[in-house]
Amino acid sequence: MVSRVIPVNPFDLVLFGATGDLAQRKILPGLYHRFEVGQMPEDACIIGSARSDMDSDAFREQIRASMAEFAPEFKKDVLDRFLSRVSYVPVDASGDAGWSDLAKALRPDVVRAFYLSVGPSLFSGIAHRLNEHGLATPDSRIVVEKPFGHDLASAKALNEGLRACFEEHQIYRIDHYLGKETVQNLMALRFANSLFEPLWNSTHIDHVQITVAETVSVEGRGAYYDQSGAMRDMIQNHLVQLLCLTAMEPPSKFAPNAVRDEKVKVIEALEPVEQKDIARGQYRAEHGQGGYVDHVGNPGSRTESFIALKVHLGNWRWAGVPFYLRTGKRLRARESEIAVFFRDPPHTIFPNVGPLHGNVLVIRLQPDEGITLRTTIKDPGPGGFRLSDVALDMSFADALGVEASAPDAYERLIMDVIRGDQTLFMRGDEAEAAWAWVDPIIQGWEDRGDRPARYDQGSSGPEEALMLMHRDGRRWRQIGG
Ligand code: NAP
Repeated sequence: MVSRVIPVNPFDLVLFGATGDLAQRKILPGLYHRFEVGQMPEDACIIGSARSDMDSDAFREQIRASMAEFAPEFKKDVLDRFLSRVSYVPVDASGDAGWSDLAKALRPDVVRAFYLSVGPSLFSGIAHRLNEHGLATPDSRIVVEKPFGHDLASAKALNEGLRACFEEHQIYRIDHYLGKETVQNLMALRFANSLFEPLWNSTHIDHVQITVAETVSVEGRGAYYDQSGAMRDMIQNHLVQLLCLTAMEPPSKFAPNAVRDEKVKVIEALEPVEQKDIARGQYRAEHGQGGYVDHVGNPGSRTESFIALKVHLGNWRWAGVPFYLRTGKRLRARESEIAVFFRDPPHTIFPNVGPLHGNVLVIRLQPDEGITLRTTIKDPGPGGFRLSDVALDMSFADALGVEASAPDAYERLIMDVIRGDQTLFMRGDEAEAAWAWVDPIIQGWEDRGDRPARYDQGSSGPEEALMLMHRDGRRWRQIGG
């Protein structure tokens, strides 16, 4: 099946931080792909901006080099046409130089998007200067990257800085997990099928496991990461968002505020987490490979590169159902999934077959996006009645063609910005609510002076994380299994 591409209206997109890693690795190749498939119109303009002093030709050459590295399958003639829509204007976001040149590069009659692919300390200043120099029109949108704050106070300050110049409906806070095809499919699965919703509650669901495992280390982001850790870098945003989509009530319609209202209710229902329900870890040095503390250059670091939590939602639907969240670096495999474990049948009619394993619905985000339902069937053949587990497996690539899973999350999200659809972006109150839940948990281990446990590189995390699950008589799904 070939995906249907609906072109967006012409736009001017100003990309602040255009020479940086994210812009060169994800955003510009993503825009190129949307151009290649015909979604980005031929008369759209991309204006790159950063402090580096260069002209548009030099910037286009930089993009060519990045495409060769990060999207080598590009078509040369299409790239030439794409680059003819790209220019560069040097601007110091924390000063006043360059803004009038930027103003001259913009057209009066098209959608404007300002994408802030820069550190959060620049967000408020850029918003302020866009306003002061008359670049922000009522039809403009401003897009900000993670991290959206370090805690509740800083998230509030960021919100205030942005809202002083833009209306909430113009602000797009990116969580790229929400742009993943399978994450959106979770909503389709739940709300476009009548099969699951009647079972989607504490009567039928035993527990939920959400895992985002990485094999990489801190990858040159050591200084930032050591101030952040897995709780701030992954749980507060990505895993909480996945939890929201899994646990939320059906919105009255698929519209930005209807969806986001329901997500905020989930975050507000998150209960405080007890110390015994938290397992933090740091990967250790081994076999001549540096450990976490070496990679961040801080021998005394107490920051976690792994965390597992048992979380409860205080509402009717999920009373008594634990949600186990786990994420970490240098683990056995790169794997992200949501696994919904259904309760065992109340009574087994099959003697001598051992315990039944129950149905598990797995929503795979990466690798190989898709959905699997573990079911129990009879082992084929004569010789007694034996049961085995089999997976009803749907790989999106197999079922729908490679196109269905190809677009990167960023491509989808940037096109949504141009369309003015905020459904897959975090609202300001949502980001603040997540910090309000996270802050006391972090404060708790800081007050206690807790040290993360050590874990082996290439493992599933520290022993403490296994114990957290075993205590409840449950097991984690195997990472890389
Ligand atoms: P980066 O590689 O350090 O790039 C930063 C960019 O900002 C450069 O283009 C830099 O260019 C520009 N810049 C810095 N100070 C500036 C100023 N005063 N005025 C104008 N431009 C300025 O950072 P990055 O990795 O691309 O990340 C950008 C943002 O996205 C960060 O907030 C990061 O946390 C977030 N993010 C990144 C990733 C990722 O995979 N990289 C993923 C998720 C979120 P000049 O030095 O030429 O000014």
